[in-house]
Amino acid sequence: MTAGTVLAVVPVRGGALPAGAAETVAEAGGRVLLVGDELGPAADALEDLATEILLAEAGPYAPGRWAGELAGHLAGEDLVLLPGSPDGRDLAPRLAAALDRTLLTGAVLAGPDRVVLARLGGRRAEEHHPEGALVVTFEPGCRSVPAPAPDRPRPVRRALGPAPGTGSPGTAPPSSDATVVGVSPPDPASMDLAEAPRIVAGGAGLGEAGAFALLARVATALGASMGATRVVTDAGWVGHERQIGTTGVTVGPRVYLALGISGAVQHTGGLGHPEHIISINLDPSCPMMAMADLAIVTEAAPLLEALAARLGVDGG
Ligand SMILES: Cc1cc2nc3c(=O)[nH]c(=O)nc-3n(C[C@H](O)[C@H](O)[C@H](O)COP(=O)(O)OP(=O)(O)OC[C@H]3O[C@@H](n4cnc5c(N)ncnc54)[C@H](O)[C@@H]3O)c2cc1C
Repeated sequence: MTAGTVLAVVPVRGGALPAGAAETVAEAGGRVLLVGDELGPAADALEDLATEILLAEAGPYAPGRWAGELAGHLAGEDLVLLPGSPDGRDLAPRLAAALDRTLLTGAVLAGPDRVVLARLGGRRAEEHHPEGALVVTFEPGCRSVPAPAPDRPRPVRRALGPAPGTGSPGTAPPSSDATVVGVSPPDPASMDLAEAPRIVAGGAGLGEAGAFALLARVATALGASMGATRVVTDAGWVGHERQIGTTGVTVGPRVYLALGISGAVQHTGGLGHPEHIISINLDPSCPMMAMADLAIVTEAAPLLEALAARLGVDGG
C-alpha cells in the first residue's frame, strides 16, 4: 500500500479519554474519531494535538453496537488505529469484523505502509508491510506526544451523522453487547499497571523483600500502584506482573517515583514519558537520576520508612 489515510478511533466513557489516547492520535498524525458519551471534554483534551476531530455521540459503552454504527464511516480509511486500552482492545476486533479487515494488536509503530508489533513481552519486534486496509491497536506508553506549536491552527470539529446504510450513532438496535451492570473505581493495588496514573517503584537499591511489602502499603496510601525492576522480580521479591520494562509491562504514568533504581535502558524503555519523575538513589549520576525532575541522593530504605511514617502507614 502507498501513502494512505490513518484515523485514530478513541472510545470515550463519560467524557474521559482512555490510557494511550493522546499517543494514538499523535501516531495517526492528528486525525481522530471520538465515540462514546459526553465527547466535549474529551475533544477539549485533544485540542492541542489533533488536526481533525470527528464526534460520534453514541451513548454509553457498547462496543458491538458502536462497531456496527461506525463501520460505514471508516470504510474509506486505510488504517484505523485504536489505543490498546481495555475499551480499545474490546472495540478493535469488533470493528475489524464489521469492516471485514485484518486486526493487528500491540503495535509500537503504525503507518499504512509499515506496522511494528511488540511480541514476547517486547523482546521481539514483528514487522508487517500491509497490503490491505487494517485495524490496529497501539500500545500505551510507547511513544511521546509532541508539544503544541504556539501558532498551530485549532482542529476542525465535526459531528458525525448517519453512515451510509445505518442510523445515527447511538440509534442502532441492541447487539450482542455485554450489559454494563456497574463500573468499579480502579484499585491502584490491583489495577493493570499499564493503566496506572501514578507508580511507586522499587529496584535493587531497596535491598530486601521486606522493603517491598512496605512499598506496597506506601503506594496504596498515595493512591499509586507499585512497580519494580527485573532484578527485583527475578529475586522473587514481587510478582513478575509488577515488572516495568521491555520484558515487563509498558506503563504510561503521569507521576513515577523510583527508589533505588539505576534506570537501565531495558527498564526505562517501558516507562513511557511521565510528566514527573522523582528518583531516590545513592548514585547521583545514574540514568534514573538524570531523568528525574526531583533527584534525592540518599539511602532508599530509610527514606521509604520516613515516608511511611509521614503518611501514617504501618511500618509492618
Ligand atoms: C534482555 C533483557 C531484558 C531486560 N528487561 C528488563 C525489564 O523489562 N525491566 C527491568 O527493570 N530490567 C530489565 N532488564 C534488566 C536491566 O538491564 C537492569 O539490570 C535492571 O533494570 C536493573 O534493575 P535495578 O535498577 O533494580 O538494579 P541495579 O541496576 O543494580 O541498580 C540499583 C540501583 O540502586 C542504587 N542503590 C544501591 N544501594 C542503594 C541504597 N541503599 N539506597 C539508594 N539507592 C541505592 C544504585 O546506585 C543503583 O542505581 C533486562 C535485561 C536484559 C538483558
